[in-house]
Amino acid sequence: LTFEEANLPETLYNNISKAGYTKLTPVQKYSIPIVLARRDLMACAQTGSGKTAAFLLPILAHLMQDGIPPPTSELQEPEVIIVAPTRELINQIFLDARKFAYRTCIKPVVVYGGTQTIHSLRQIYQGCNILCATPGRLIDIIRREKIGLTKLRYLVLDEADRMLDMGFGPDMKTLVTSPGMPTKEERQTLMFSATFPENIQSLAREFLKPDYLFVT
Ligand code: AMP
Repeated sequence: LTFEEANLPETLYNNISKAGYTKLTPVQKYSIPIVLARRDLMACAQTGSGKTAAFLLPILAHLMQDGIPPPTSELQEPEVIIVAPTRELINQIFLDARKFAYRTCIKPVVVYGGTQTIHSLRQIYQGCNILCATPGRLIDIIRREKIGLTKLRYLVLDEADRMLDMGFGPDMKTLVTSPGMPTKEERQTLMFSATFPENIQSLAREFLKPDYLFVT
């Protein structure tokens, strides 16, 4: 598979070219077709493998192709939620999402702990299609009903093994069982992890559809 063969929307393809990407990395080559086929995915991938674009590009392609309905109320209802364990990591994902969504109507937003919640909420109120968040702040915002989950189509858990190591397992479970959260049958879920020990396998069974695909 090449970027040309992936049949991505032209704006997205232009943004990829502007980023200087010419060849797909292995994790992108295997993951992009799976996500484009709307299957759930568990990918074993390290930082530096190009895993961020592996999930962002096909998700953005779908959002661009299917279109984003205009907001029906002040309450922001993101189509995509991306969760990563640290501020640095989630901010990098946000910056990549913004770069690839350039000149589209898709609005990525990033929120994390260690800042005032009101600051996160202000970002969200300005429009949010892709919410990039650390686990604690995300749960806080969902508990306070500051975002709606009815439009959620994609859930991405990045560095899942690190999230477990850092004690975010309960937050991840709270997230997928939150009131209004689409079931795994209704949403597309993508998990990325550097390792695949038993606790991650068990999380994959819990969060992903039974016919999920595994990439290593
Ligand atoms: P990641 O593993 O997602 O953190 O990406 C590692 C680095 O590789 C980032 O700086 C990306 O911008 C870059 N990168 C990702 N995919 C490609 C690609 N296909 N061609 C060139 N650089 C890439």
